Amino acid sequence: DSDPAGIVLGGDLTIPLLGGDVVSYANLDYAASAPALTEVANFLNDISPYYASVHRGAGYLSQVSTSVYESARLAVSAFVNARDGDSVIFTANTTDSLNLLAGVVASGVADTGGGLRRDVVYLDIEHHANLLPWQAIDHRVVSVRNTLRETIDELDVELAGAPAALLAVTGASNVTGEVLPLRELAELAHRHGARIAVDAAQLAPHRRIDVAGDNIDYLVFSGHKLYAPFGSGVVVGRADWLDAGKPHRAGGGAVREVQANSVSWTTGPARHEAGSPNVLGAAAIAKACKVLQNLDQDDWHEHEEHLRRRLVDGVADIDGVETHRIWAEESLDAVGIVTFSVRGYDPGLVAAYLSAEHGVGVRDGRFCAHPLTKALGLDRGGCRASFGLGSTEDDVDRLLEGLRALLDGGPQASYVVDAGRWVP
Ligand code: PMP
Repeated sequence: DSDPAGIVLGGDLTIPLLGGDVVSYANLDYAASAPALTEVANFLNDISPYYASVHRGAGYLSQVSTSVYESARLAVSAFVNARDGDSVIFTANTTDSLNLLAGVVASGVADTGGGLRRDVVYLDIEHHANLLPWQAIDHRVVSVRNTLRETIDELDVELAGAPAALLAVTGASNVTGEVLPLRELAELAHRHGARIAVDAAQLAPHRRIDVAGDNIDYLVFSGHKLYAPFGSGVVVGRADWLDAGKPHRAGGGAVREVQANSVSWTTGPARHEAGSPNVLGAAAIAKACKVLQNLDQDDWHEHEEHLRRRLVDGVADIDGVETHRIWAEESLDAVGIVTFSVRGYDPGLVAAYLSAEHGVGVRDGRFCAHPLTKALGLDRGGCRASFGLGSTEDDVDRLLEGLRALLDGGPQASYVVDAGRWVP
C-alpha cells in the first residue's frame, strides 16, 4: 500500500538506517517538493527526443514543440478554471512568478479610475516568496490576529483606510496548512478597488482551484510541488495589467520590434517569457494538471485529511510534542501539512534523528516564513510533516513511533550524513 493512488513515483524507495537496517523511506516532505507522477515521468520520457526551440521556425520539430508548449497553457487554464482571456505565463517557480507580478504592479498599471495605485497589502504569515517581492515595492503589512475572523476584519480596515492596488495572500500556509477563504478575500479586495493575487504553491497540490468562480485576479504556483519536476511555475490572471506592465526579463521573443536603442514590447505571455523557454517544464506541469483534474476530488481530499487527522490526534497523545496553528478557530480547513515541536529538543536534531533511526523524512527550520515562525514562538524553528497522494498510514505511524522513541530515551548525539549514511 505504498501508493494508494497508484500514480506517484518513489513509493518503493529504501534507505539505510544508522544501525544498518534497510527500511522503506517514509517521505513526509511533500510540501517542499512532491515526487513526480508516473504519468508525468512517462510523458517527459516520450517527448524528450523530440523537443526543439519554440516559436522560432517552420521546422517540423519546432512546430511540435511550439504546439506542446502552447497547449500546456490550455491545460493549466482548465486546471484552475481560468476566465476566457486570462493569460497563462510560464515562469521558473512560484518565487519567479511573484517577482514578475511585483514588477508589473510597481510599473504603474493599477489605475481603476481613482488614480494610480502601487501599494500591495499582505499578511505577516507569508512565505518569503510572497513577502520579499512586495517588501521591495510600495507595501503595507497587516499582522494576523488571534482568529481568522479578526484578521479579515483588520484587512478590511486597512484596505478601507487607503486604497491599494493588490491584496497578496497565500492559499494555504506552508507552515500550518491552514486554508484561507479565497472567495471572501477576493470579494473584500474588490470592494475596496484592489485586486487579489493568490500564492497557491501549497493549495494547488491539494485542492481544486476556481479562479473564475472565486474571482481571483492572479494565481501562481510551482511545478515541483505539483508532482512535476523542478524549473517551471505559472502566473495565471487578468491580461490587462500583465500586457501593460514591465516585462519580467528583457530579451528575445518578448518584443514586437527592436531598434539599436529602443524596443517595442509585445503583449500576451511572450512579453514576460524572453529567452528560450522551459518547454519540458511547461509540458510536465500541464500533464500533472490533467492527471490531478481527473482525480476524484472527494477521495483525494479524504485520503489527505484522514492522514492529517491521524497525525494530529496521534501527536495529541504524546506528552512533549506540540502542534502549531496560526488561528484559534479549530474547524479551519487545512491541507496535509502539520508543524510540530518536541519539548527540549532542537528541531534540527529531531529531523536528523527521525531520518537516521526511523527512515522518516520531515523538514525542519523556519520554513522561509520567519515572521510567522517567530509569531508561533518557534524562534529556533520547528519540524514539518507534509503529505500527498503517495503518503500512507504507515508513514504517519512511523513518525509517531519515532517521536515516542525520541522522548523515551532519544538521541544522545547529533548526526551528520557521510557518503549517504548517517553517522553520530
Ligand atoms: N509560497 C509558498 C506558500 C511555498 O510553500 C513555497 C515553497 N516552499 C513558495 C512560495 C516558493 O516556491 P518555489 O520555491 O517553488 O519558488
